[in-house]
Amino acid sequence: MTLTISSAFDAGNIRVVKIDGDQVELEIVKDHKSDFYQWFYFRLAGAAGRDVTLRIVNCTGSAYPHGWPDYKACLSVDREDWVRVADTIYADGVLTINLTPPTDCVWLAYFAPYSMERHHDLVTAIAGQEGVGYTSLGKSLDGQDIDCLTIGEGELKVWLYARQHPGESMAEWWMEGALEKLCDPDDPVSRVLRRECTFRVVPNMNPDGSRRGHLRTNAAGVNLNREWHAPSAEQSPEVLWVRNAMDDSGVDFAMDIHGDEAIPANFLAGFEGIPSITERQTDLFKIFSEMLERLSPDFQTTKGYQVAAPGEANMSMSTTQLAERYGCVSMTLEMPFKDNFNLPDPVYGWSPQRSKYLAAACLDALHGILPDLKNAKPS
Ligand code: ZN
Repeated sequence: MTLTISSAFDAGNIRVVKIDGDQVELEIVKDHKSDFYQWFYFRLAGAAGRDVTLRIVNCTGSAYPHGWPDYKACLSVDREDWVRVADTIYADGVLTINLTPPTDCVWLAYFAPYSMERHHDLVTAIAGQEGVGYTSLGKSLDGQDIDCLTIGEGELKVWLYARQHPGESMAEWWMEGALEKLCDPDDPVSRVLRRECTFRVVPNMNPDGSRRGHLRTNAAGVNLNREWHAPSAEQSPEVLWVRNAMDDSGVDFAMDIHGDEAIPANFLAGFEGIPSITERQTDLFKIFSEMLERLSPDFQTTKGYQVAAPGEANMSMSTTQLAERYGCVSMTLEMPFKDNFNLPDPVYGWSPQRSKYLAAACLDALHGILPDLKNAKPS
């Protein structure tokens, strides 16, 4: 019997080059109107008990070639639990995944997927909770809503938004954790946060890229996190609608949630290098980072991106644009596709569950710096 591969479903991405018995050659498909690719997600059927070798042969041209060494593919037999395939090897531009599927339908992905169907389940469940408001900020190019949930009634304006880069599905697992905690009526931290802050949460900024199985861009092939200085209704409506809503509400504290292909750690990137940076902003960013590092063994401040020199920030990115535009403290949280190598888990690697725990720790850290945020708030 011939095994089959398919990706014609929500967030699917792969192209079959050839199938020769139990040897399969595959390519990841580029984002529509873009050269970015790295996200894959497909079903392997009819291979129960057979020693199958899957070779993804176009890794060299992918967006982040440094993402492949030490990377282990994600596998699920029930579409709920995603484990790592230990026998994943990267060499000479080819990712080789060796496995013996226990059943005739198994699923493989770059990271545990967060489908648009699950997104709708999440938004519907949270919007139905006591004290939560729902707003559609506008439509994407494919006609999907940019969903925004409002929680709390405090003076501090907090924005949490994720998945500008749709292939970074850990970002929406983080959101699921954050929203569940924020809506927990018994959680003392969330009770105080809801009293002191008004949260506006956009769990998925790029629904089109998510459904299309993109790594990094929307339906027009545009990288949304390079549009914040000049978003347009034609190219980047997702950013335009969110930024307009931020202009209306104001912003005191913001987190933009991402995944990083190469660095095996959780880390923050800030807004160094913006033209009108203040000591207050840098102090608050530092206090939050240190608080989070104390609270979560999965967070650290040693590994991360290079910091921009004074005056050299890239203002097209949301974190820098928000810090400059509103004088707020804003940050990009990066989670690994691989694992936190300081606290590795060989079975799951970095995972949905750990992303959710990190979200909870981020809210605990926000609670920890509330006095600083309130004291330092400019009048
Ligand atoms: Zn990203």
